[in-house]
Amino acid sequence: MNNYIEAANRAMQWHRAYKVQMKKCRFDTIAAHGIYSMQEALDFNQGSIIEPVYMSTSQAYRDADEMEAALGYKIPTWCYSRIANPTVYYLEGVLALLDGYGSDAETSCIATSSGMAAIQSAVDPFLVDDPEHPGAPMNFVATTQVYGGTYQQFSMRKDAERRVEWRKVVHSSDLAEWESLIDENTRFLYGELPSNPGLAFFDLKKVADLAHKYGIPLIVDATVATPALLRPIEHGADIVVQSVTKSLATSGFGITGAIISRNNLTSKIGSPEMKADFATYLKLFPNRDNGPNISPMNAVLAINDIRTIRMRMDQMSRNTMKVAQFLAQHKHVEKVEYLGLENHPLHELAAKYLYLVDTEYDEQYGRPVNRYGHLMSFLVKGDAKQTRDVFDAFTRIWRATDLGRIKSVATIPAISTHSQQGEEGRKLAGIPSNLIRLCVGVEHPDDIIRDLDQALSVLDGRKVKMTSPEYSAGGASSATLRK
Ligand SMILES: *Cc1c(COP(=O)(O)O)cnc(C)c1O
Repeated sequence: MNNYIEAANRAMQWHRAYKVQMKKCRFDTIAAHGIYSMQEALDFNQGSIIEPVYMSTSQAYRDADEMEAALGYKIPTWCYSRIANPTVYYLEGVLALLDGYGSDAETSCIATSSGMAAIQSAVDPFLVDDPEHPGAPMNFVATTQVYGGTYQQFSMRKDAERRVEWRKVVHSSDLAEWESLIDENTRFLYGELPSNPGLAFFDLKKVADLAHKYGIPLIVDATVATPALLRPIEHGADIVVQSVTKSLATSGFGITGAIISRNNLTSKIGSPEMKADFATYLKLFPNRDNGPNISPMNAVLAINDIRTIRMRMDQMSRNTMKVAQFLAQHKHVEKVEYLGLENHPLHELAAKYLYLVDTEYDEQYGRPVNRYGHLMSFLVKGDAKQTRDVFDAFTRIWRATDLGRIKSVATIPAISTHSQQGEEGRKLAGIPSNLIRLCVGVEHPDDIIRDLDQALSVLDGRKVKMTSPEYSAGGASSATLRK
């Protein structure tokens, strides 16, 4: 068996050295290449310049010795695609580097089948009995302004079903409120930055320091920002969760999640190996046993979109700013919520953290430049019915409960993403029924502005008649579909 282990050690050394080399590159280079090297392509993958897709369920071994070494985790192996997979490994490698960019911390990543699976995988290892306080009721402290699915997972699956108390931070920019909720049975702090759809923002560094003062980790969902605008680990967060489904994998070809952790994170709970490398621990143990793994096909689709994340977030942020400024002066709009607008109460705080990465090295910019992402919301000056009328009149913006897409997409959170949590939960999360969430794509902003303007004009009494062909060009009857 030793010859296999020695060969594995040499290979691991090479791979580690290659990652160190990649970590020295600028963000765009990492995004484009990830950890897939020319050497690996030429030696093992017929020179394929794009990461190969290994659809195979499992890996074969040369003999019993190699199999035993592999299953004992003594040599790098992928073994069985629920546990690991070479294509998924490339996705994990690039995300670990991107979310660790600008930080001295060593990071690692595990990809999951969805953003929700990433959140569950990230929080569950901390929600176990504390040997120091056996049988004590446990809690976690998290902001109320979170994604609707997260709200359900925390309130139903944790709090109601498992009696793990969710202590809710209502005003996440108030540090004293966070601190007042922490006690010796608090397992972690959790927040979304910026939040979807309310765009709540808190002082990341201060909340990370607060968590560490109590010996617990800070977990941050940074889906809306993406690593192109914010890398929470650089500011002290221990674990980052991403719904890669959204802006990272903008094409909209699949559901994907990821957890990126800093090595040697702070926690009172967990084994030394869990704290030393949380993402790898998840991969080798809990996620092996629970099975929330991602398909290699979804992994390569995500890898492909991630290559252009920085330039997209720049373009989409600039488009969104233009759209937000247009809506802010529109007579049928009560309010626009976008962190990029100077009158947003959290603008100053967001401006401290949200920067397009590496602009100081750009010929075009040459200095740090704020960008605020492509998620915004606006309140229609009217009731729930009038809001639906405006929504129904969009012709360019797609009505879908989605965000991060290359195309502009809008939803009414009160009847979609946040419908399950009820009136009370929506009030806590700040989701009124006249709120439209809009995620601006890469179209020319003038065309999106024109669509918004004509849709809002229904409030002047303009009648909108939806005319649809009875049959789609592909032959399916849309009349049947509409029933
Ligand atoms: C969509 C979303 C999630 C859930 O991700 P899925 O990939 O849909 O499971 C989590 N957090 C945020 C902020 C999201 O927008």
